[in-house]
Order: sequence, then structure tokens, then C-alpha cells
Amino acid sequence: KVNEVLEVNEMKSAKSGEVEWEDNLGYFIKKKLRVWCRLEDGKWESGMIQSTSGDEAFVLLSNGNVVKVSTGELLPANPDILEGVDDLIQLSYLNEPSVLNNIQYRYSRDMIYSKAGPVLIAVNPFKAVPIYGNKFITAYRQKVMDSPHVYAIADTAYNEMMGDGVNQSIIISGESGAGKTETAKFAMQYLAALGGGSEGIEYEILQTNHILEAFGNAKTSRNDNSSRFSRVVQLAAGERSYHIFYQLCAGAPSFLKERLNLKVANDYNYLNQSECLTIDGVDDAQNFHNLMEALDIVLIRKEDREQTFAMLAAVLWLGNISFQVIDNENHVEVIADEAVTTAAMLMGCSSDELMLALSTHKIQAGKDSIAKKLTLQQAIDSRDALAKFIYGSLFDWIVEQINKSLEVGKQCTGRSINILDIYGFESFKKNSFEQFCINYANERLQQHFNRHLFKLEQEEYELDGVDWTRVEFEDNEECLNLIEKKPLGVLSLLDEESNFPKATDLTFANKLKQHLGSNSCFKGERGRAFSIRHYAGEVPYDTNGFLEKNRDPLQTDIIQLLSSCTCQVLQLFASKMLKPSPKPAASSQPGALDTQKQSVGTKFKGQLFKLMHQLENTRPHFIRCIKPNSKQLPGIYEEDLVLQQFRCCGVLEIVRISRSGYPTRMRHQEFAGRYGVLLSEKQLSQDPLSISVAVLQQFNVLPEMYQVGYTKLYLRSGQLAALEDRRKQV
Ligand code: ATP
Ligand code: MG
Repeated sequence: KVNEVLEVNEMKSAKSGEVEWEDNLGYFIKKKLRVWCRLEDGKWESGMIQSTSGDEAFVLLSNGNVVKVSTGELLPANPDILEGVDDLIQLSYLNEPSVLNNIQYRYSRDMIYSKAGPVLIAVNPFKAVPIYGNKFITAYRQKVMDSPHVYAIADTAYNEMMGDGVNQSIIISGESGAGKTETAKFAMQYLAALGGGSEGIEYEILQTNHILEAFGNAKTSRNDNSSRFSRVVQLAAGERSYHIFYQLCAGAPSFLKERLNLKVANDYNYLNQSECLTIDGVDDAQNFHNLMEALDIVLIRKEDREQTFAMLAAVLWLGNISFQVIDNENHVEVIADEAVTTAAMLMGCSSDELMLALSTHKIQAGKDSIAKKLTLQQAIDSRDALAKFIYGSLFDWIVEQINKSLEVGKQCTGRSINILDIYGFESFKKNSFEQFCINYANERLQQHFNRHLFKLEQEEYELDGVDWTRVEFEDNEECLNLIEKKPLGVLSLLDEESNFPKATDLTFANKLKQHLGSNSCFKGERGRAFSIRHYAGEVPYDTNGFLEKNRDPLQTDIIQLLSSCTCQVLQLFASKMLKPSPKPAASSQPGALDTQKQSVGTKFKGQLFKLMHQLENTRPHFIRCIKPNSKQLPGIYEEDLVLQQFRCCGVLEIVRISRSGYPTRMRHQEFAGRYGVLLSEKQLSQDPLSISVAVLQQFNVLPEMYQVGYTKLYLRSGQLAALEDRRKQV
């Protein structure tokens, strides 16, 4: 088997690097080397070529069958000795079936982590794998273990932060349910253990996960514990709103239930619309108690806690407020019932004020203002916008309270490790504004990923004097331009249309087609649809709802109501809205975007830029989480699903780049010490660099297989294995 590796490498050498695969079929036949063969169903099977004739080959599959396929359906397989390697760049042949097979081999043995060059790949095991906890933390800390692991990444980040004084970031990506949040928690667990273990600030920080998950996570069809951001007022069938609502309804003690006039979850429209109130194996009442404990540990003040619960109940009651149409123009009034009185009581305003704010819109007419009645749809939108605003502000506020509480009296060194757990690229049959924002964020992150991995890699070669032709990488500038460019980019055009009261989703789609057609990442589709060619694939978007979602229809009337409420947090939330735009846009039409108010898209872009700026000032470590199946079950590896994620994440690309470079690097001293045994005494008296070069010549390593840098030796993948084998034979 070792010989196979050597021969494979020699064959590659003969072709100076890249294998002209199809010219080498004869070699594979002669040496009985394994190949991958794509069958009609698209699946790859391994086998051996028996013979070829023209463009066709007869392949003996592992199951004993012989199939006839076109030679275009064949790819070289790696020798058995390379099966299940830690790092994909060690593979002599990099192709999709080899990579898929390697990861599957490891996954089936519970080795869920692998490396793709500098990137850590984590495959979700959907079961407890015994590779975490103090024993493992110590093993990674003491370098007793070095197989790929999130602990190893956290350890490197920690060492580099302490050693080089450079801020670090651990950037975790992957699609919904791939394991990002769990991975982030393991990274935090490792760092917390380094800091002190089961008490003190580290422990408190770990406890914040319970709080953030209760308020930020929800059950979706893809993940029972999905990190989400907007789903207070609308749920898809089978999905839930944020855990906290169900926890509160199920677990609140009776005095609290009484004070908030709290009913069971099923009594609230915002919760019962999806006909999914519980999650298998999850006890909401118990989780409410755990949450209370976490709030205690993180030292959230009792008053703050009470206000929080009151706001949650207010959101639920707002959802039960209903309207009745009072004229032929579909204008409405609020129905005065328990929902209005309770919501008003919790918010600290009168029922009348709340009813007026939810059903009318003040318009400035000269010196006077007149109240114009809202239509049913406008009233519903306005009620839902209020609920979303309260919940969104509450979430930000809780994070703020946690941060305040953790920082009190604590030392701050100024150095940090950021852990980013972000929503991954999404592509459904129908994609809306949410997917657009998510994919835009991923596009930016991908740019960061590219620039960093490709740039750093190449800079190291240049700095060490390696003769290196720059590899140009697939950059996604064009796609980012399409989205961000002013005045003709998707976001700008969206804002422009959002300012026209008469604009519709269709006029917006037409505008996009009219102005963006020349961008190669844009594709106009029929009617309201358009597609964007993202780095991870083409995504069809439906502009239905884009304008409304971008406008964020929280009317000034509502903000004014909030600032007059006796509830302190609501006043605070309202003041934040009023600050950036001191002049309320009283003359705006309902449905038009207040000029002073930022649109959702523009706000999102601003937040994204802030995030990227923060990341730019850190040394990144990338983790790509992979979901092996869509059933959330252990032991199932769906090749197509995995492959699609590898493609989306650009894993193959990064491995390819790493491979086209010199992935094996060794300091001259180290290399000379290890392989100098082959040389004569006299040669050994030279300096390490000269010894390195002499060893390479002695081993007949071809010049294109290595580069000699000032400090290190750079080898192409597979070379070290061959050298190591010869060393053992000596
Ligand atoms: P989303 O984008 O929806 O937030 P996510 O990528 O954050 O998804 P997680 O919530 O981290 O996904 O993982 C989904 C589920 O997969 C977890 O609830 C857990 O059951 C399981 N899981 C993920 N990683 C691991 C792991 N390392 N060990 C055991 N189980 C895991
Ligand atoms: Mg998550």
C-alpha cells in the first residue's frame, strides 16, 4: 500500500503536479488501483478498471458487478492507506467522491471532526459522542491529543491571543441544524475551563447560554432548537415561536400567572396558529426553572426580571387583539375585550390610548393633526409590528443587562476571542426578504473567508521567499456589488421603492430587472421573481412582501404611545427609536417609509458592516458545520446533502487551493533532524537548510514537489508520507 502512495506520487511528479487523469487510466489498470465510478443514479461506487475501449471502460465494482461506463464518469480513488485521514489535504486525489468517502469513513467511527486545510469540519453526530468534558479538555490543553477537534481550535485561538496578543475569532458557519450553536458552546466550555472552571465569571458566561437560547431559539422544521430572529407574529405549520413563551406559560408560579393574567399557550393566537405547542423530549416548565436559575447566577435584577415577564405577556396579549370593520372602505376599530385591557395594563397605558394607536394614524394638516382610520390590513400590520418591536427591543435589552452584570467589577485585559454563530446560507423553493438578508450576510462572510485564507496562505510563501505564482481566487465582489452598490443595487432600489407609497412588489421587481440586468450575478425571472447567483449557488427570490418587511411599519403614533407608557422599559425602547430621528415624520403616509427611519435592509447592512469590521481586527479560525441528514438522526449519512454543503461552504475549493500550494511545512531544523539519517556524516555537518536540500536530493524528490523557504521547507501534499516511508526502510 505504501508503494501505491509512492507510485501515485511518482506518477503525479511525471505530470508536474496535476494529474492528467484520463491519460493515466492504463496505469490504473496495470497497477490494479481503485477508482471511483459514477453510476446512473449519480452515486459513486469504488471499483477497478478492467479494460477500456475508446471512451468507455469496464469497471469491476466492490460488490462483484462489472459495469460499462464512460471514462468521463471515472475518478481516481485514494489508496487504502489514506482512508479516513485527519486532513483532507493529505489525500493524494482530491475529488468529490474521495472527500465524501473520507468524511463518511470518519463519521461512521464517531470521528466527527476533520480538517480541510486550515478549516475545521464538524459533522453533526445527532447523539452524545464521548469526546467532550474535562478529560478531553486537559488532553487538548496538554497536547496529548491532537486529532481535529473544536477544543483544538479554541486552544489555538487562546494560545495565539495570549502569545501574540492578537484578538481572535472563531467563525462557525453551516446550515440550520448543522450544529453551529452546539459547537460554539463547546468552544466556550473549553475557554471557560481554561479560565477557571466551575465557578466565577466563566461559569456565569456559560449560564448565559440558557438565557439567550430561551429568548433567541425556537423549534423549526429543521432544528428543534434553532437560533432564529423574527418569528414572533407568524409561524409556519409545525414550528414554534421562541422557547421563552411556552416556558413562561408552562412554568410561571401562580402569583406571576395571576399578575400577568397569563393563560395556557394554546390560548394565544401568536402561539396556537401553528398547531405545535410542545417539542418531544422537552419539558418547558422545567426549562423555565432552569432559566430562573440562570437569571439568578447572571445576577439579573429582580425588577428587571419582572418587567421582562410583563413584556412577554404583553406581546402574547397583543396577538389576541382583534378588529372589526366599520365601513365599506375596510376601516376598523379595535374590539374592546380582555386582550386590549390586559395588554394596556401590562404596558402601562389606558385601553383607549392603545386602541386609538392601533386603529388610526395621525396626519399633519397645516397646524392641525387629524386621525385617519386604518384599514384592517394596516391595523393588523401595526399591531404585529408593535409586538415584534417590543420583543426585539426586549432581547437587545436583556443582552445589555447580561453584559452589564458580567462586567461589574471584573478585570478587562482588552484582548478577546469572538465566537460567531451565524445563520447559514439558505435556499428554499421560495425565498423571501429574510433569506435575502441571511444570504447577503453569508456572502460578506464568504468574502472574509476567501480573503483571509487565500491571502494569508500566499503571504506566508512570499515572506519566506518561496517562488510562488499567485493563485487568483473566486472572489464574490460582483455579487456584493449587486446587493450593496449605490444607487443601483438591490438594497438601494429596495429603499427607493419603499419610499413610494404606490410602489408594489411587482414594480420593485421590475425596477431590479431594469437596472441590474447587466450584473452577471443577477437574473430576472417572470413576474415578481428574480434570482441571485450567490457563491454557494443560485437562489430564486420572490419579491412578495419585500417592501413591507423592509419598511418595518412601526408608525410614529405607536412610538409616541410607548414613550407615554408608565412601563419603564417601554419608555426606554421608544427613546432609542426617537433618538436617531428627533423630528417625528408626522406627515408621512401609512405604508411609506419615514425618511428619518432606517429601513430594515439598510439597518441590517449597517450591523453587518459593524460585525465585519470587528472581525477584520481579529485572527480568524473557521469551523464549517455539516448536517449529515435532514432527519435529525444519528448514523445516517446522506451523500447528496453533504456534498451540497461542501459545495456551498467552498470546502472543496479551499482544499484544492491548499493542495495547489504546499500544505506540508516543516522548519529546516526539524526536517534535517528527522530525515538527516540518510546522509553521510560529512553532509550532516552543514547548516539545517543545506541538510534539508541534500535530503531532498538523496530521496529524489522532484523539484516541483517542494520549495525551500528561508525558514521552512514547503512540500506538496503526499510527499511527506513517501519520505517517511523511505526513512523507515533505512
Ligand atoms: P440553527 O442555524 O437552526 O440555529 P445550528 O447549526 O445552530 O442550527 P444546533 O442547534 O447547534 O444547530 O444543533 C442542532 C442539534 O444537533 C442540537 O440540538 C443537538 O441535538 C445536535 N448536535 C449538534 N452538534 C452536536 C454535537 N457536537 N454533539 C451532539 N449533538 C449535537
Ligand atoms: Mg443555532
